[in-house]
Amino acid sequence: MNMAMSIPGHIDPVPVPRAIPALDDSRLDLVGLSRDAIRAALEEAGLDAKAAKLRAKQIWHQVYHRGAIRFDAMSDIAKPHRAWLADRFVIGRPEVIEHLVSTDGTRKWLLRTPDGNDYEMVFIPDADRGTLCVSSQVGCTLNCRFCHTGTMRLVRNLTAGEIVGQVMLARDTLGEWPSQPEGRMLSNIVMMGMGEPLYNFDNVRDALKIVMDGDGLGLSRRRITLSTSGVVPMMARAGAEINVNLAVSLHAVTKEVRDEIVPLNRKYGIEELLQACADYPGANNARRITFEYVMLKDKNDSDEDARELVRLIRKYDLPAKVNLIPFNPWPGAPYECSTPERVSRFSSIIFEGGISAPIRRPRGRDIMAACGQLKSAAEKKSRAELDRLAEEKQAALADVPA
Ligand code: SAH
Ligand code: SF4
Repeated sequence: MNMAMSIPGHIDPVPVPRAIPALDDSRLDLVGLSRDAIRAALEEAGLDAKAAKLRAKQIWHQVYHRGAIRFDAMSDIAKPHRAWLADRFVIGRPEVIEHLVSTDGTRKWLLRTPDGNDYEMVFIPDADRGTLCVSSQVGCTLNCRFCHTGTMRLVRNLTAGEIVGQVMLARDTLGEWPSQPEGRMLSNIVMMGMGEPLYNFDNVRDALKIVMDGDGLGLSRRRITLSTSGVVPMMARAGAEINVNLAVSLHAVTKEVRDEIVPLNRKYGIEELLQACADYPGANNARRITFEYVMLKDKNDSDEDARELVRLIRKYDLPAKVNLIPFNPWPGAPYECSTPERVSRFSSIIFEGGISAPIRRPRGRDIMAACGQLKSAAEKKSRAELDRLAEEKQAALADVPA
């Protein structure tokens, strides 16, 4: 059995070596391209329309369904054609800077874009499912006060290829090609990594289309959740063009507190946001909207807050579930996590209001699985390395006779 297929449960966190070498050339990377875009690229490279159409269909199946990373593995394409393709195109994967496995089986990757920006991906295995937490941006422009990603300076949108590439890389690691409908470890995807997915709408949509394609990665939209901090004007489009499950980072029930912890609230308020949730297509009891609520001590965790949350959800008649997230602290964070007793009490009040409110169990603490933490640890390490080099240089200079 392939070692990478078993999720270790009782070992220390281990770095896992990368299997696929980084690409370093100017050939076009096909990952992230739609069928039409692949066909157009083939025509541009010289194939006639008919050949390009057929070849695009074969390549699509090989790349997204079978997980091929080399053209010479594409047995349904004649050998000379494979070589022709390999001269012009590549099938890439994100570059892995670090890959850690937690004692609880959680995996975390630090990935790097070709232009040198780092972002994260996390895989959380459970008894009956495995959830991949995918990033949509490097950093985030929204600056929620409890979120480490919001403190990062560097921001750029990830491309569709970089987004779907995360899922493909996870499949490589778990040994889960070709795409199968049943029995896979990677069964669910949440767009809850770094970044605000609705601020990178087109790329997120294009990537998720490939993930949901029956001859692509083949994951049903019911197994995909998009989390937004509340970009109200994009929510209707998300429903119309992507229509995956919706999660909303509510985190507070009064204007005063939400303005402070989710500054986007100053632009799109709570009532507007809840109305957009009520208008989201397909929301019903079988497909409830998840409200994420990070538990911050003495900030948003009172009994009144819980009762107000129930009232708001009822007012908008929302088929909803509340996910209570214990705050994951990071160095310099301006908040503390609510006590376990407070979190339980908060949860009970919501349950008594007839709304499910499970408490999320922290996972992968030993590998810093909270959003943004691995990236800053890596940055710190490189700063420490720089300091050490500077010291060495100084010491060397001091040795030079005057
Ligand atoms: N930008 C999107 C998706 C990424 S954040 C959004 O905000 O919804 C994914 C979830 O992690 C959000 O609910 C976010 O509020 C939560 N989160 C961020 N930092 C956290 C921390 N330090 N502790 C607990 N949850 C956190
Ligand atoms: Fe951005 Fe989401 Fe973090 Fe807010 S919680 S800063 S929207 S990643």
